[in-house]
Amino acid sequence: MSDGLAFISVDHPPVNALSLTVRQGLARAIAAANADPLVDGLILRTIGKTFIAGADIKELQQGMHLQSPTVRDIQDMIEAGKPSVAAIHGSALGGGLELALTCTFRVGLPDATVGLPEVKLGLLPGAGGTQRLTRLCGPRVALDVILSGRRLDAKEASDLGIFDAIVTDTHDAPARFLRDRLAAGDVPPPILERSHAIANVDAAIFTDARTNNRKRARGRLAPDAIVDCIEAACRLPGAEGVAFERAQFDALQGGEQNRALAYAFFAERDAAKALGSNPAPALEVARAGIVGGGLMGSGIAVALANAGIDVILVDVDQDATSAAQQRIAQIHAGAVARGAMSDAARHAAQNHIHFHTDYRSFSSCDLVIEAAPERMAIKESIFARLGEVTPAHAILASNTSSLDIDRMAAASNHPSRVIGLHFFSPAHVMKLVEVVRSGASSPEALSTGMALARRLGKVAVLAGNCDGFIANRSLQFYTGQAEFLMEQGASPEQIDHVAEAFGMPMGPVAMRDMAGLDVAALVRSVRARTLPPEERLSPLIEKMVEAGRLGQKSGAGFYRYEGRKRITDPEALAIIQAAARELGIRQRSFTDEEIRDRLFLPIINEGAREIEEDIALRASDIDVAWVNGYGFPAHRGGPMYWGEQTGLDRVVAMAERLGAELGPRWQPSALLRHVAASGGEWSRTLGGKD
Ligand code: NAD
Repeated sequence: MSDGLAFISVDHPPVNALSLTVRQGLARAIAAANADPLVDGLILRTIGKTFIAGADIKELQQGMHLQSPTVRDIQDMIEAGKPSVAAIHGSALGGGLELALTCTFRVGLPDATVGLPEVKLGLLPGAGGTQRLTRLCGPRVALDVILSGRRLDAKEASDLGIFDAIVTDTHDAPARFLRDRLAAGDVPPPILERSHAIANVDAAIFTDARTNNRKRARGRLAPDAIVDCIEAACRLPGAEGVAFERAQFDALQGGEQNRALAYAFFAERDAAKALGSNPAPALEVARAGIVGGGLMGSGIAVALANAGIDVILVDVDQDATSAAQQRIAQIHAGAVARGAMSDAARHAAQNHIHFHTDYRSFSSCDLVIEAAPERMAIKESIFARLGEVTPAHAILASNTSSLDIDRMAAASNHPSRVIGLHFFSPAHVMKLVEVVRSGASSPEALSTGMALARRLGKVAVLAGNCDGFIANRSLQFYTGQAEFLMEQGASPEQIDHVAEAFGMPMGPVAMRDMAGLDVAALVRSVRARTLPPEERLSPLIEKMVEAGRLGQKSGAGFYRYEGRKRITDPEALAIIQAAARELGIRQRSFTDEEIRDRLFLPIINEGAREIEEDIALRASDIDVAWVNGYGFPAHRGGPMYWGEQTGLDRVVAMAERLGAELGPRWQPSALLRHVAASGGEWSRTLGGKD
C-alpha cells in the first residue's frame, strides 16, 4: 500500500492465468483492501511479460474454474468495491480484458494490446465482456471488436475509450492517475451502471450486423449470438444483460462449432511444429528472388515486400517486368483504397522490390522462389541457372502446383537446397503455403521455408512431393465429383448452393468458372495421361471450352455472367445434357444431402491415401490446408475432422460405391478402412503420427 492506494499484483508465470490459487489470492487481497478504511482505491497489475491471460485452460478442462472464488466472484468484488484501476502491460485478451472491464478505470503501456477473441473459437465473451464493452464504448464499437475478435493496440484502445490513459509504467503512473481522479471527485460508477454510450441507439446497426453475419460467417452460431448480446446490453439493466450473455455463452460452449474451432486452432499449432520440437535453424531471409512476375510471382513479391523483405524480381524482358510492376502497383493501390494499407507503407513496400531481366541479380539472394510457367523443361532450365548464380547458402524454391520437385532439385545441382513453396492464388491474400519436401531437401531448407511462411503471416503445412501435394490433390476429387454430378443431372446451381450452404465461400462449379475453364482443360490434358485406363475424366469442361465458354472471363462457362453475377444458363445446361446423352447416362434428380456427401466424402478417402503415402504428416494437416487454402468452414474443423464426426463408415461406403462406378482411385484406401474399423478417429488410430 502507498498513500491510501492498495497495489494488487498478480505474479503467476507464464501468463498470469486465473487459476484457483490466483483467484484465492485476489479474493483475499481485494477483500482486505475493501475492508481497510485507510485504502481509498486499488490498482490491479501484473508481474511478468503480460497482463492476466484469462481463465486457466487446464483448469477449464478439469472443471476447476467452477470452484469458488470463481472469476465472476472476483469481478463482483472489484465492481462493488473501491475505485480501481487496471494497469495493463503486454496483452489483455478475453477473460483478462473482461476482468479489467470491472475496474473503474483502465490504463495501459504504449505496447499493450487488448481484444475479445472468443468468436474465433465459436464462443462469445462470457464474463460480461459483451455487456461492459457495449456500455463503455457503445454498440458500434462493441460489434466491431467482438465480431472480429481482433487485437487493438494501446492507441486504438485509448481512442475508443477502453483505456482512460496511456501510461509509462504500471506502478507510479496508475497511482498518480487514480489519485488525481479521486482528488477531482471524478470517479464514474461501475461500467454496468453507465448508460451514456447506449442512449439513442439506431436499431438498424443490429439488422446490418446480422446481414453481414449471413454473408461473412455463413453457418456460424456465435456471431449472431454476439449481436443478440450487444443488443441486449442496450436494452436490459446491467445484471439482466449479464445473465442473458451467460445463457448465450452456455449454449455455445462445448457445442459442435466450439469443439471444431478449438480443434482447428490446435491443428494449426501442430502444423507449425511439423519439423519437431527442435528443428534445424532457419536461415534469416533478408533478400529474396522471384523468377517470373506473372499472376503468382507478383502476389508473392507483394507478400514478401509487405513483410519488409527485399525482393529481386526477374522476368524474361522489359515488357514482362513492366507488366509485373504494374500488377504489383495495382495490388498495392487496391490495399490503400480499401484502407488496409497506409500510403507510407505502400511506398516502403514498393521500395523493397527491384525489377531485373538478368539472373545474375540473384547473386545476393538468400532464397529464390520460381513462379514461371508450369512446364518441366522451363523449370529445369531455370533451376540449372539458379544453381549457378545464387550464393552457396541460398534456398531454391518452386511454386509449382503439380510438377516433380525432385527433377528441379536434380537440375539445380544443389538438391539439398531445393524445396517447394506452394502459394495459393491470390498469393498476397491466401493464407496457405505448402512447404514441399523433395527427396533431398535439407532440414535447414525446410525450416527456412516454414519460418518464411510464418513471417509472411501465412499458415505453413509440410507436404510430400507428388502431383497436387496435399490440397490440390484432394481438391481434384471434390471438383471431379461436381462434374460427375452434373453429368448425372444435378444442376450447377444446386451443387454450388449445397457447397455454399455447407460453408464453402464459393461452390465448386462457380470456382471453376472463376479460375478459367481453359486453364482447367490444360491441366487435365496433362493429368489424363497418367490416369489408369479404366478411369475417365468427365468431358464437360472440354465441351464448355469448345463452345467458347471459358468461364467468368469470357462472360460464360457453366453459368452466364453479368459482371460477376452468375446466372443459370439454359445453353450450358443443354451442353451438359448432350454430353450425358453421348455418355449414355440417364439424368436424375438429387437431394441436397446426396450432393453434399458426393462432394465432401471423397476428399477424406484421398486424404487417407495422402497420409498412407507420407504426403501429409497427419489428418489435421489436411484440415489446415483445406481451411486456409480453400476456405473450408473452420467451424466444421476441416474435411478429415468433419468425416470423423459424420462417421468414417459412411466415407467407406461412399468410396465403395464410387470405386465400383468410377475406378480404382475412388475405392476406399487401406488406411481409411483401417481407421474406420478401429473406432473411426484418425488421431487415436494413428497415434504419434497424428
Ligand atoms: P503466369 O503465366 O501468370 O506467369 C509466369 C511468368 O513467368 C510470366 O511473367 C513469364 O513472363 C515469366 N517467365 C516465363 N519464363 C521465364 C523465365 N525463363 N525466367 C523468368 N521468367 C519467366 O503464371 P502463374 O499463374 O503466375 O503461375 C506460375 C507458377 O505458379 C506455375 O508453376 C503455376 O503452376 C504455379 N501456381 C499457379 C497458381 C494459379 O492459381 N495461377 C496457383 C499456385 C501455383
